[in-house]
Amino acid sequence: MSLYNRMKKIVFILLTLGLFFTAALTLDFQRLSKGSGCAFCRQEVLDAQVFYRKGGAIGMLTYKPAVPGHVLIIPERHVERFEDLTSTELMALGDAIKEIDQMARKAFGHRDYLLIEKNGRGAGQSVPHLHFHYLPAAKFLAARFFLSPWLKPLKGEELALLRDAFIQEKAQLN
Ligand SMILES: [Zn+2]
Repeated sequence: MSLYNRMKKIVFILLTLGLFFTAALTLDFQRLSKGSGCAFCRQEVLDAQVFYRKGGAIGMLTYKPAVPGHVLIIPERHVERFEDLTSTELMALGDAIKEIDQMARKAFGHRDYLLIEKNGRGAGQSVPHLHFHYLPAAKFLAARFFLSPWLKPLKGEELALLRDAFIQEKAQLN
């Protein structure tokens, strides 16, 4: 195959992949924002996914964990961006991150973790309700996090098992 043809083939593959990822992200975003209002303010989402609630902060499971122990930490109030938080909410979120980290370490056995918080669509924020991703360190974490929107969502009973694991650790901490 000539160099020109090979280049043409590579460009074609890259364009196809790009289109595929864009379409998948758009679909995922539409799924998250369907129904009335924000996904993280919706009662049925909170009922199924919340395992921690204190002082205006919430710890919730994500239905597409990139790695075991991947959870979200959000303010109870609908706040879109970091700069919209009050000092009290900031404190509550900080405390929640520390406490949930302890719970997650015990449940999943890691020590190191990554926090990711995006502000605005331009930064890749998919749900317009401020959320910290808590991600236990794992091999290929960045790639797994990037690919997580395309994972199969966890089923109700899988979410319930995970939530119980966290709630058990919380009970032992208190
Ligand atoms: Zn919200």
